Amino acid sequence: MPFEVTILGSSSATPTVHRHPSAQVLNINDKLILIDCGEGTQVQLFRYKIRYQRINRIFITHLHGDHFFGLMGFLSTMHLQGRVNPLTVYGPEPLEEIIRMQLKVSETQLRYPLEFKAVSSQESSIVYEDHEIQVESILLRHRIPCTGYLFREKPGLRRLIKHKITEDGVPVAALPSLKHGRDYEDEKGRLFRYLEYTLEPRRSRSYAYCSDTIYHEAIIPQIANVDLLYHEATFAHDILPRAEETFHSTALQAGMIAQKANAGKLLIGHFSARYKDVNVLLKEAQTVFPNTHLALEGERFSTD
Ligand SMILES: [Zn+2]
Repeated sequence: MPFEVTILGSSSATPTVHRHPSAQVLNINDKLILIDCGEGTQVQLFRYKIRYQRINRIFITHLHGDHFFGLMGFLSTMHLQGRVNPLTVYGPEPLEEIIRMQLKVSETQLRYPLEFKAVSSQESSIVYEDHEIQVESILLRHRIPCTGYLFREKPGLRRLIKHKITEDGVPVAALPSLKHGRDYEDEKGRLFRYLEYTLEPRRSRSYAYCSDTIYHEAIIPQIANVDLLYHEATFAHDILPRAEETFHSTALQAGMIAQKANAGKLLIGHFSARYKDVNVLLKEAQTVFPNTHLALEGERFSTD
């Protein structure tokens, strides 16, 4: 059951020849979710052979162009490619008007239903949930309203110990109860204890996406113990004043957030174009959080 993120872009502000602006695809049990959609995202989806028509939800963090300028092109391509399945976009409220306006002036009637859900930057909330996952908004501090997202699997059912069930002839009717952690008694009064026939549910996995933000410790309780944390690291710490004035973080600060939140693994990205070699940012973050990785295009990261 996959739970992995593919990096499509991790440049900040302007694209460079080798780096695209922010976009990622999260695959949770073969459901695809797009997070941010900078310019050129659709080309990156083709390049990395992502089955993009299977993306049903798009989460946009804020309305700086490097996080959503690719959205209209992508929505249009899915239409031209014959998409009929509904698609939902989550993001700051003005984004809906931007999308509708562009569709209106180009007289485009999408073939698929497009739904928009405004995400508040004033209070954190559950913005989406189904039987498998839950997505919460994370309040970040940036020059304009900005929310990150926390993707979390819901706890699954207990796992059956199949050989024991066969050996003891546990009736099929007992299995749903056992999986839900309840003992089962059949009509002859035979008792089947769930602890004997099941194991703990598989661990729920989680991913927090935090871009863009100034160093902001208020997010730590919400992302505590997250398996995989993406935190922006636009600059190195030697130019902290530059990071502060633009409401961005340094690589060292990204490492500090990961360490204080007890994250399993840290991915850093949103690199300033001034860094030709982003390994300086990697090394800096690793001084406080060794399990740090660069969110480079085409790389895939899982929770393991
Ligand atoms: Zn920004």
